[in-house]
Amino acid sequence: MRVMRQRHLFATVLAATVLLACSRTPDPSADAAPADAAVAAGEVNLYTTREPGLIQPLLDAFTRDSGIRVNTVFLKDGLLERLAAEGARSRADVLMTVDTGNLLDLVDAGQTQSVQSATLEAAIPAHLRGADGKWFTLSLRDRVLYADRDLAIDGFNYEDLAKPEWKGRVCIRSGQHPYNTSLIAAMIAHDGLEATESWLRGVKDNLARKPAGGDRDVARDILAGICDVGIANTYYVGRMKNAPEDSEQRQWGDAIQVVRPVFAGNGGTHVNISGAAIAAHAPNRDNAQTLLEYLVSDAAQALYANANYEYPVKAGVELDLVIAALGPMNVDALPLAEIHRHRREASELVDRVGFDQ
Ligand code: FE
Repeated sequence: MRVMRQRHLFATVLAATVLLACSRTPDPSADAAPADAAVAAGEVNLYTTREPGLIQPLLDAFTRDSGIRVNTVFLKDGLLERLAAEGARSRADVLMTVDTGNLLDLVDAGQTQSVQSATLEAAIPAHLRGADGKWFTLSLRDRVLYADRDLAIDGFNYEDLAKPEWKGRVCIRSGQHPYNTSLIAAMIAHDGLEATESWLRGVKDNLARKPAGGDRDVARDILAGICDVGIANTYYVGRMKNAPEDSEQRQWGDAIQVVRPVFAGNGGTHVNISGAAIAAHAPNRDNAQTLLEYLVSDAAQALYANANYEYPVKAGVELDLVIAALGPMNVDALPLAEIHRHRREASELVDRVGFDQ
């Protein structure tokens, strides 16, 4: 599946490059890009796949604070293809995305550059940023256990999900979703490929239904009595439990308890990330660094915590009440880059055990 996606990506990039080289006609999708006039002091160009509703308040606060205007290009996907097509003429200064894989794909493709910043290094633990300063985590998205609120669960290892006691009681979305391949890759990094394969087969044996839908459907199906436990991201719990009292989502949220699992042995809780980097050809490099440093300020980190219920990457920032009630998080200490190296194996493993079938 991943191979197919890469082929498709290559074809897209090739087509875009040929178009630029032959006709010098600008990429039609570049209409939304900031014009050359935007390259002036006091501006920064942000390319992001994040939802406008979430990050606009952050950017408005940055502009109020610094006087630097932010020109934002919101992309649903295809950030890497866009940058490849624009090449050295790209106006991108800051790249912001979700998922370790998406961010490190940009790094691997040479689309980011190093930045040395004492502010960024002080705010972000070393295993959550590139040692070369080519990428930085801005917020954490922990992948946790949703469980029927009436179950007595005292501590949970991810490995436990394959135990026979959960037979017919587990709900989860597709194994090929990046949230799950990231978790499976982390387990390969901790326990090895063989142990992870038998774990995944065990989890498959325990499923109450075919892997499908989204993370919130785990809570919905626990409420409906279809399953008792499942794996999903914590920020959805913030959304569900903060939803209006008479809404469906609130009922789903109120039906569950959240347990933060850890990997057996001395592992921690698996996190995926949202993150950012300075673009390789950034025309406003200094402003790009100023924006990145703002995004790890206490004020910006609190916005991450309260606007989307994500976990701040910086210690000591006030959390949303629902998230705070989960207690302290023991973030898995494996470097994200090491987990990322096992993503392809994880995806192949999902196919091999027929997890989604
Ligand atoms: Fe999500």
